Amino acid sequence: MITKVSNIYKRILITGGAGFIGGCLVRKLLKYSDSVIYNIDKLGYASDLKGIENELKKLNLSSSDRHQLINIDISNKDLLSEAIKEIDPDFVFHLAAESHVDRSIEGPEIFVKSNILGTFYLLQVLEIHYQNLNSERKKNFRFHHVSTDEVFGSIESGAKFSEKSPYNPQSPYSASKAASDHLVRAWEATYGFPITISNCSNNFGPWQLPDKLIPLIIYRAIKDEIIPIYGSGNNIRDWLFVEDHVEAILNIAFRGSTGSTYCVGGCNEYSNLEVANFICDYLNIYKPKDKNYRKQITFVRDRPGHDFRYAIDNSLISRDLQWKPNFSFRNALNLTINWYLNNLNWCESFFEKNNKS
Ligand code: NAD
Repeated sequence: MITKVSNIYKRILITGGAGFIGGCLVRKLLKYSDSVIYNIDKLGYASDLKGIENELKKLNLSSSDRHQLINIDISNKDLLSEAIKEIDPDFVFHLAAESHVDRSIEGPEIFVKSNILGTFYLLQVLEIHYQNLNSERKKNFRFHHVSTDEVFGSIESGAKFSEKSPYNPQSPYSASKAASDHLVRAWEATYGFPITISNCSNNFGPWQLPDKLIPLIIYRAIKDEIIPIYGSGNNIRDWLFVEDHVEAILNIAFRGSTGSTYCVGGCNEYSNLEVANFICDYLNIYKPKDKNYRKQITFVRDRPGHDFRYAIDNSLISRDLQWKPNFSFRNALNLTINWYLNNLNWCESFFEKNNKS
């Protein structure tokens, strides 16, 4: 477990730090390092800085001392070049991406722009920055790219994805993430740019936008609305608590070998219907009402190209970096449900802002 980040890293850049996983990473780094965290984020529909603001208050820090937001789009190369010159980073975590599969089906162009072109510009600009660092800073510099297991497509039951699995993306989202992984690897092979990559399974936890499966189920259940489940609810995901994912990212980035890819999963395979049932059963006990929450579950037309099953083999990261999830699925899920019960206003304001639920 990473409890203290070396103080050789004075200036850490995170892209997408106003998002769900990036926000968790920023909060961890505020706690476990003395570095200034530079957060490049375009502040799109998926962004929210409240979690970071709360953490700064908790730690008695002023925003400008330890967390600096740079509100730009990484697909604007001129603004990005200027920002990198000013930030002068010692270490980079790249999380900025359009991340919602359904949105990628409705409007794929922005996924190509942010996830492929944005990653390409970031690599170009940062590679020049890297070449100009002095030898000490160069030795310690790294670019960690956060990716998804969705790049591998679907897998049949019994089998698991590993670092050797062939790429087979099925949605515009996963195709754009696959392309970004290839670009990152090419920058290492071609220019000697020091990278690591993680391909992680589905995350959940506090501060995840309520248009994603687990928070949507919780929110709809509480609001007494239908709980929509695609197809017959049999699609299987390997769930990982966001705190555990961020621990894995820190371990890989700071301790993994340059050029390596690590698959990260929770070893928590559940169908979407099972997840919905767990949540309903928990609410039946801790927030009972006159009818069973399960009655709200409604099957809706399946998503096109919906991958049936994802599952991750964690062997490499657990052997090389001794990482394993700290939270059991059920504990993390209960903790997450309670967080949403206490933060329903936050969900409401998201839907008000984005005009649908
Ligand atoms: P998110 O949608 O919650 O946050 C993404 C953030 O990136 C947002 O704040 C958004 O404004 C920013 N962003 C997007 N495009 C940008 C651009 N062009 N320029 C600047 N900022 C931009 O996503 P998340 O769930 O936190 O995912 C973060 C990363 O982790 C993504 O790269 C995603 O592919 C990867 N990932 C997510 C999961 C998951 O289950 N959520 C699992 C594995 C990997």
